[in-house]
Amino acid sequence: MRVASGDQESIVYIDGEYLPENQAKISVFDHVVLYGDGVYDTCCAWGGKVFKLDAHLDRLFESARAVKLDVPVEKSTLRRVVLETVKRNHLEEAYVKIIVTRGVGKLPLLSPYHCVPTVIVFAKPYMRLADGDDEKSIRVKIASLRRIPDESLYAKVKSSNYQNHVLARMEANEAGYDDAIELTIGGYVAEAPGYNVFVIKHGALLTPRDNILVGITRQTVLELASRHGIVSHECALTPFDLFNADEIFFSSTAGGIFPVGEVDGRRIGDGAPGPVTRRVRSLYHELLESGEASIPVY
Ligand code: PLP
Repeated sequence: MRVASGDQESIVYIDGEYLPENQAKISVFDHVVLYGDGVYDTCCAWGGKVFKLDAHLDRLFESARAVKLDVPVEKSTLRRVVLETVKRNHLEEAYVKIIVTRGVGKLPLLSPYHCVPTVIVFAKPYMRLADGDDEKSIRVKIASLRRIPDESLYAKVKSSNYQNHVLARMEANEAGYDDAIELTIGGYVAEAPGYNVFVIKHGALLTPRDNILVGITRQTVLELASRHGIVSHECALTPFDLFNADEIFFSSTAGGIFPVGEVDGRRIGDGAPGPVTRRVRSLYHELLESGEASIPVY
């Protein structure tokens, strides 16, 4: 797992300009500030190449379309902007966020009509975890707060409103756990606040299909599994399946593949990263480092 370091002054793209981060500002009347009304995507650069950039841009534009937000730049332009932002920050390994806000509208403030969206792209360096951290697993709690159902807001939309996930994570943290797993309203496993969930049982990868953000890392894991002869199924999973898993891992762009060693006080396997998790993690790192699915910045 790698996490972003946020303490460096960087160059931020905002509505056609590249500005030092202390000058990159949006209005307090932007609906993303007022209502969390916007969409975003997060991608990463490895070895000076952005991994699966087109998949991230496709997801961003699909999110925007689903919430009736017109992205004010073409996808091809935004693609160039992402690469340029990484370049202007002189980064080889970067965490990149692309945000499209609903923007500022007219009075009354609640109306989403006539808003002018803002596009923001920033890139921050990745910070490698200290040596030995690859051996660690996290402890997770099943949150009592359920994931917002598709009937209220499509989980496939990467919305700027993460309050549901933030509260699930806070509940877990305040109970002494590292993170949370969120269930659907119907009690099935959905995902985690910022990650997809994989269960390993008898050598097969099982991952929820419904009420999830369709993670690019999740898709990559499924592709790698099929390429390397690991059986995988997208299916409904319950907390019982978590408690009885041989292994569990989370997947995300920002965190990669990282193991879960405990769920609600039940140890998973022997609590340490298991063999299938290690294999998937190393296949994922090989793919990132090969540049095979990435777009060069430089
Ligand atoms: N689920 C949620 C709710 C997320 O926010 C994220 C990533 O931000 C993911 C899953 C993992 O998606 P990806 O692999 O595209 O980073």
